[in-house]
Amino acid sequence: MFVATYDSQTGEWTEGTLQPYGPLPMSPAAQVLNYGQSIFEGLKAQRSYQGRVVLFRPEANAERMSAGAARMSMAAPSEELFVRAVEQTVRSNAGYVPPQGKGSLYIRPLLLGSGAILGVGPAPSFTFVVYASAVGAYFKGGQLTPIDLLVETRFHRAAPRGTGGTKCAGNYSPGLGALAAAKAEGYADVVYLDAKTDAYLEEVSSCNIFAVFGNTIRTPPLRGTILPGVTRRSVIELARKLGYEVEETPVSVDEALTADEIFTTGTAVVLSSVGSLTYKGHRHTFCEDNKPGSVSLRLYEALTGIQQERLDDPFGWVHPVEACEITNGAAA
Ligand SMILES: *Cc1c(COP(=O)(O)O)cnc(C)c1O
Repeated sequence: MFVATYDSQTGEWTEGTLQPYGPLPMSPAAQVLNYGQSIFEGLKAQRSYQGRVVLFRPEANAERMSAGAARMSMAAPSEELFVRAVEQTVRSNAGYVPPQGKGSLYIRPLLLGSGAILGVGPAPSFTFVVYASAVGAYFKGGQLTPIDLLVETRFHRAAPRGTGGTKCAGNYSPGLGALAAAKAEGYADVVYLDAKTDAYLEEVSSCNIFAVFGNTIRTPPLRGTILPGVTRRSVIELARKLGYEVEETPVSVDEALTADEIFTTGTAVVLSSVGSLTYKGHRHTFCEDNKPGSVSLRLYEALTGIQQERLDDPFGWVHPVEACEITNGAAA
């Protein structure tokens, strides 16, 4: 893992070092343990069709961590430090990057208010950690099995002017109960509604959501309550390039139920077709024969094609970690 530290006295980050994966020493008075200054990121390194190990838009993750840090009164690593840390972590774990199509190396950057402080205030020092874990392919055989989602009517995820737009740790544990309850009933995940009117879709626990109406694709706008996904942003750009009309406008549940297709996006799932939405006890289905809709499938193929270097990358999104060879993934 990679570790760098920031001291508020000097106002500077250390260069950072790679060290064996293991515990982080911390005072019981560490800000993060008491008041929760913690933000994470998530990205993937994978072995491409060109035989390279590649990342996808890591600068976008750096930018998002930086925005989140500002919201949470934390010092953020620069884009240079962030990307270098991710690259070094990938390089030193290159043996764990699975063979092409067999999964990826999931990379988890963490920013922690690690310094000790008893009074409520920002940490006097911060720790930036990047660790990694090999993960299997999300969909066996690469197919897109549509997922069943439950529209959550008991809990909200985020409130206007709150922290919903930040990948801060505290946003996630409050949703674990809703997720577990939905899973126990056979749903893959929940869809949250907006806290103000309970009428509009926000997002899924850790994915953004889109609705397809003919040639128009709609997704809820970024107004601070939903997470600005890198995949969301990429799908919007890609869909426009493919000739779809993309609107970032509120989508009510009632409208969503009339959509031709619904899909979700995120680093882990990439793009997942939604087979059904259950709202107030009624199940509305979207997919026939448990097959993804044609627009979802087309976008999935286009995006993974770029990510895996199977198709051209007109946007310059692919970020190779090493120009030349990395030892083959024997350990995976
Ligand atoms: C991480 C995350 C997403 C997806 O973001 P990506 O950058 O596409 O991985 C969406 N919603 C929430 C709540 C998330 O935490």
